[in-house]
Amino acid sequence: MMTRDVAVFGSGVFGAWTALWLRRSGASVALLDPHGPGNSRSSSGGESRIIRMGYGPDEIYTLWSMRSLGHWKELAAQTGQRLFEQTGVLWMALEGDEYAAHTKRLLEKHGVELETLAAAELAARYPQITCPPGSWGLFEPGSGALMARRAVQAVAAEGARLGVEQLGEAAARPDGAGLLREVVTTSGTRISAGVFVFACGPWLPGLFPDLLGRRIHPTRQEVMFFGPRAGDRRFAPGRFPVCLDLTDPRKPYCFPELDGRGYKIAIDAHGPLFDPDSADRTLTPQGIADVRAYLAARYPDLRNAPLLESRVCQYENTSSGNFLIDRHPDFNNVWLVGGGSGHGFKHGPALGEHVAALISGQAGVEQRFSLASKAESRAREVF
Ligand SMILES: Cc1cc2nc3c(=O)[nH]c(=O)nc-3n(C[C@H](O)[C@H](O)[C@H](O)COP(=O)(O)OP(=O)(O)OC[C@H]3O[C@@H](n4cnc5c(N)ncnc54)[C@H](O)[C@@H]3O)c2cc1C
Repeated sequence: MMTRDVAVFGSGVFGAWTALWLRRSGASVALLDPHGPGNSRSSSGGESRIIRMGYGPDEIYTLWSMRSLGHWKELAAQTGQRLFEQTGVLWMALEGDEYAAHTKRLLEKHGVELETLAAAELAARYPQITCPPGSWGLFEPGSGALMARRAVQAVAAEGARLGVEQLGEAAARPDGAGLLREVVTTSGTRISAGVFVFACGPWLPGLFPDLLGRRIHPTRQEVMFFGPRAGDRRFAPGRFPVCLDLTDPRKPYCFPELDGRGYKIAIDAHGPLFDPDSADRTLTPQGIADVRAYLAARYPDLRNAPLLESRVCQYENTSSGNFLIDRHPDFNNVWLVGGGSGHGFKHGPALGEHVAALISGQAGVEQRFSLASKAESRAREVF
């Protein structure tokens, strides 16, 4: 039976970056996932994820985004892969929007490049968008989109290159208390390690039902790609940024056409509860109708655009939207890492670095990431 320093279960963006940082620090690491990095069931699968520095009043996430963007760019340069598209990120907000005001204040405080667009400037720069009267914009020119699946696979491949052992196995629920010596996988393999990290995204509530069954709620989220007319380049990167719409309470967001897949649009408001193993991943007629109505109002030129592709994915929400990064209360050497809550992808590098520091004793548990701060009710505070 071979023992390594750390076994990380789950090679989504959280687990893959955690394994990479641990390996970089000299630890022997195994990364286990039955479906592989960036698989279609995982929350990290799919084409693209927004990386933005703005987080309203939640400074820690602004700082982690800033730190993570540097690491994503470094990995892209090192691997020669296109992992980040600097499309810019445009926030649209109504007058008096406190979240946008906090975002502006914190980005200025931290020296993030930012443009404030008054209503007339917003309309003149982006005639493709019909904003509600009185809307204004904040533009982060240095931010953009991460190519999600490709990026997670690149992180895992970099780990493998440095010696992270990768296994296609699923952890079964660990038993006992105190010091966990091994985890048996669902195929019966015994995985021994000094420390275990469970970074199983929306599967965490199923693995630890007593502890997390009511603290992490996976929800159904629909994503659609629409096709602008042939030759219409107004929704292409360079002409059109990633957009986050705070003028609509459902907080829809859009991506320019990346990799020729069409104009991507989704609604951030939580859908119904969702089982990542068995739930149906086809769009609902209501979901399509909601998005088409929004397109007609905000991007009227795309009103009748054909639906080219779609995905149904899940958010894995904590009560507040703050991540869960804490020790399992029953085991001294087991860490729970998840609760990305619809905004975790971009933070993979900073999160993995933090988990590696927790394991080596160089960092302590952040209060807002603690298990104790996770309620069973749902009251989203972080977006
Ligand atoms: C539609 C959508 C849009 C989003 N948009 C954004 C965005 O724009 N920006 C942003 O920053 N974030 C965004 N997010 C959130 C972000 O993608 C997630 O927070 C993040 O990917 C979570 O990563 P994870 O590694 O925790 O989980 P996952 O990616 O789900 O990874 C968990 C892994 O664990 C594996 N696993 C499951 N059970 C076991 C087991 N028993 N043993 C071993 N492995 C196991 C799974 O196969 C999976 O690969 C979005 C999410 C969705 C769904």
